[in-house]
Amino acid sequence: MAANAPPPPPKKDLVADWQRLARVFIRPEDDDSRATLIKYMERILFGLHDFLKRHVGITEARSLRELSQNYMRTDISEEPEKKLADVIACLINETAPHAVNVASPYFVGHMTSAIPFFMVHLKTIVAALNQNVVKLETSKVVSVIEKQVIAKIHRLIYDFEEDFYLAHVQNTETTLGVFTEGGTTANLTALWVARNAKFAAKNEFSGIENQGIAAAYQAYGVDRCVILASRLVHYSLRKSAGILGIGNNNVIPVDTDKNHRIDINALEQTISRIRSESPKTCILAAVGIAGATETGTVDPLGPMADVCRRHNIHFHVDAAWGGPTLLSEKYKHLLAGIEKSDSVTIDGHKQFYMPMSCGMVYFRDPELLDVIEYHANYVNRRGSVDLGIKSLSGSREANSLILDSALKIMGSQGYALLIDHGIQTAAAFADEIKSRPDFELVTRPVLNILTYRYCPQKIQQALKRENQDRRCSLNSEINRVNRDLQRLQREAGYSFVSRTTLQGDPACGENLVVLRAVIMNPMTDMKILREILDEQQNIAARFCAPDLPAV
Ligand SMILES: *Cc1c(COP(=O)(O)O)cnc(C)c1O
Repeated sequence: MAANAPPPPPKKDLVADWQRLARVFIRPEDDDSRATLIKYMERILFGLHDFLKRHVGITEARSLRELSQNYMRTDISEEPEKKLADVIACLINETAPHAVNVASPYFVGHMTSAIPFFMVHLKTIVAALNQNVVKLETSKVVSVIEKQVIAKIHRLIYDFEEDFYLAHVQNTETTLGVFTEGGTTANLTALWVARNAKFAAKNEFSGIENQGIAAAYQAYGVDRCVILASRLVHYSLRKSAGILGIGNNNVIPVDTDKNHRIDINALEQTISRIRSESPKTCILAAVGIAGATETGTVDPLGPMADVCRRHNIHFHVDAAWGGPTLLSEKYKHLLAGIEKSDSVTIDGHKQFYMPMSCGMVYFRDPELLDVIEYHANYVNRRGSVDLGIKSLSGSREANSLILDSALKIMGSQGYALLIDHGIQTAAAFADEIKSRPDFELVTRPVLNILTYRYCPQKIQQALKRENQDRRCSLNSEINRVNRDLQRLQREAGYSFVSRTTLQGDPACGENLVVLRAVIMNPMTDMKILREILDEQQNIAARFCAPDLPAV
């Protein structure tokens, strides 16, 4: 045989043929497939359960660059490569250890965390039923269950009378809200609705959705639209402004007060300034945040709603994070005023503890969603309960089944326990940070998110007394230390706190690098949080702080 002849083809024990293919489709009449289903399900559930128990760190130490070397092949193998049992084993034993154990109570950096175990069962049901709620013909009762759970959350937000909900809960003409893929598409839907409502059909003009931006602006004598929000607004609002043709430069930042909440006078002034300086500018919407992604802060929703109503501006509340706080009797007052909004975004995969991914958007006016109505000949027929009629998504999974079941399993009281734990633990964590001379609390928690930084007391004091040049250079050093510290802690793999930047002293031209903690895992307690601070203190003392300037 020539030295460079291709190797003989591998022995084929795995082949793709009709007989085998038929076996992998679920056939309930067949007892064999039943046993097979159960066997694999057991392997998955117990395998992952054991993994989560064993795997206490956040992730294994191998670098992403090293791992990516295993994922270079780009051809699709013609014949099957692995049996299901091997694929499951491989996912559990080889992939999972290098994924991120977001369920770890030491993982306090992001809005993704442990979920109740029953969510895995519920997600399996959704996958097995494989309903498509875009249309009644592929979902039937699931669509009316979705309308019911939408009404439940609408009621949690807006709390209208019983009669209102009886009139709308199963009304095929009206819509109280829609499920989306996440907060981003929920925010996009809200602004899409606001835009279309503002540029509705009139006279010869048949509406912005129909004729586009240029015709709309001309019909209304407008040359620009703007959206008002604080600097802390989630970037999805800028993305939405881009997609909707408004332009993300036209998301205008409104000044915040020292607690990072929109300054209501600044909002009034911004509106007056725009109205007097550029009468052809349309103020499309204002966005209040209920749980800012970076700081967890809540804008003054009630006063914002009043200003918006007075000026005829759509008021959207981005409660992607904070929405479920409404389930807590103790803390729902933190979102007071949300009931005066025109629309509200809430994420299911955040504080409803649902698996990825689920968002929702709600509208005070059950007819407002009519402005994004679409029909097609084969689906979404007029007057039907086809949920795809007024929705950005087409085909869509039945996430409502998960939320509705979770609400039944947990009760509002169950969720309240989680919310209360997060808020109270974050407050205790803030006290702990303040008590440690090496750390500085940057934003105190309103909900369950806080930011802080490593900044030894001596430097904190120097920052107060030094001149501006020196202050800026010290801050710059501290920024570097916190950047390194966060990276080293993440790479060590025991715990995870995230990092972001907040607005710093404008004179320095550099933002403030801060560490960000999100407390949503009910297993995260003060003992763990103290350990996390200890670890940071040790890392800083060993690797980061030695080059700090003497003060
Ligand atoms: C998470 C978040 C979003 C974006 O939601 P996704 O589900 O990630 O698309 C928007 N706004 C706020 C306030 C958020 O916390």
